[in-house]
Amino acid sequence: MVREQMEERGIRDSRVLEALRRVPRHLFVPPAEAAEAYEDHPLPIGEGQTISQPYIVALMTETLQLTGTETVLEIGAGSGYQSAILSVLCRRVIAIERHAPLAARARTVLDRLGIENVHLLVADGSRGWPAEAPYDAILVAAGAPSVPDALKEQLAPSGRLILPVGGERMQTLHLLRRDLDGTFTNKNLGDVAFVPLIGAAGFGLPDDLGDIDI
Ligand code: SAH
Repeated sequence: MVREQMEERGIRDSRVLEALRRVPRHLFVPPAEAAEAYEDHPLPIGEGQTISQPYIVALMTETLQLTGTETVLEIGAGSGYQSAILSVLCRRVIAIERHAPLAARARTVLDRLGIENVHLLVADGSRGWPAEAPYDAILVAAGAPSVPDALKEQLAPSGRLILPVGGERMQTLHLLRRDLDGTFTNKNLGDVAFVPLIGAAGFGLPDDLGDIDI
């Protein structure tokens, strides 16, 4: 998976490639899908959601240029695979998922792998998570109709925010960088197809989930 889908398609950061080698992706997919865990496409994980395509996980992770010291906010934790990759590359991950059954399963797998620096919550991540802001990096794994203001506000100076923006099925991947003067630069990284971000700053009705530690 790493050689054919990552290195040959231009993923170069050796820390990211090492993290992809280390984290066993098959543990994050339902048993019926395990045989396909290392193929380059999304897979169903329940609740109508999918584990992201490995190449997109690699691309989004590499784009954040993590060095190991960062606090990262991840929205749409789903299976927990992306959380596990980030946990190897930064100091602490705050991961938010709106479907409690997915978050519970993700927590079990992260615990089984001995990953202790992921704080997993059930909440509407489209509001971000102000309690632990600012974040050095924010990664959103669900398509937003526009860039949520709360996420821009919760970004540290020089912080990076990567997210799909567009419709409920097709989006464009954007990398925003907060400059020291508080302005943002925005880079378009191409077309992607994520499940929609559901919530106050997403599609659909605002969630009223309360905020639960998992
Ligand atoms: N990185 C995950 C991707 C899962 S798909 C993985 O590889 O497994 C995106 C996830 O975003 C879904 O699990 C969906 O339930 C979740 N999601 C959608 N809107 C959300 C919101 N407002 N807050 C938190 N999670 C959300």
